[in-house]
Amino acid sequence: MNLVFLGPPGAGKGTIAALAKDYYQIPHISTGDLFRSNIKNETELGKQVKSILASGGLVPDEVTIAMVRNRLEEKDAARGFILDGFPRTIPQADALEGMAKLDAVVNFVLADEEIIKRLSGRRICKSTGRTYHVVFNPPKKEGIDDETGEPLIQRDDDKPEAIKHRLEVYAASTEPLIDYYRKKGLIVDLDASKSPEEVMRQLASLVKA
Ligand code: ADP
Ligand code: AMP
Repeated sequence: MNLVFLGPPGAGKGTIAALAKDYYQIPHISTGDLFRSNIKNETELGKQVKSILASGGLVPDEVTIAMVRNRLEEKDAARGFILDGFPRTIPQADALEGMAKLDAVVNFVLADEEIIKRLSGRRICKSTGRTYHVVFNPPKKEGIDDETGEPLIQRDDDKPEAIKHRLEVYAASTEPLIDYYRKKGLIVDLDASKSPEEVMRQLASLVKA
């Protein structure tokens, strides 16, 4: 099963992917997580993209496409994958066509005001990428990851200026992909405003394992 999760930042793609990867038994491949792990490990790629991520801009297509191509060649992706955060531009979508045949593109639909609430309250564990929300999904102990015990942080790009920029970038570069994939008959729309369990139920009923 080859799935793409499409939708604005903060719509819950990563949260649902964490449930869907077990349900469909396929790896969750988040380009944002891959970039953040390169930044954390201070790799060449990490140094190249650090300021782009902090500002909420997009990493150049050729860099992103090469990273995804390498990742999809890994053994675990042979059974299928959930791509979260890729493609984000038409050239990326064209490149993906040459790498894999998609079964569905899941479009997470959520109003802007809800997106802003979700992004501004998001907190993550830096080493595992596990995601929380100060109101909607708080950790057991405030500010601390439930499993690693490490302090939670706010992503630089979840601060107000970067949020605004990311929503503009989404509207200009990524939203056109909804039409691109709708024309190919691949889009499955999800009402992302419901609880994670309810969104996962919708997904399971629309995209059969
Ligand atoms: P994305 O991967 O699309 O950027 P995330 O999965 O990181 O989005 O979710 C953004 C924020 O919203 C996180 O803080 C997460 O805990 C919270 N969240 C995700 N899904 C829901 C939901 N269905 N209801 C309420 N809050 C949610
Ligand atoms: P995300 O975790 O999906 O919100 O992604 C965080 C950031 O990583 C984005 O704001 C971009 O700077 C970068 N990024 C992630 N995926 C892509 C992509 N497909 N193309 C370009 N930049 C990306």
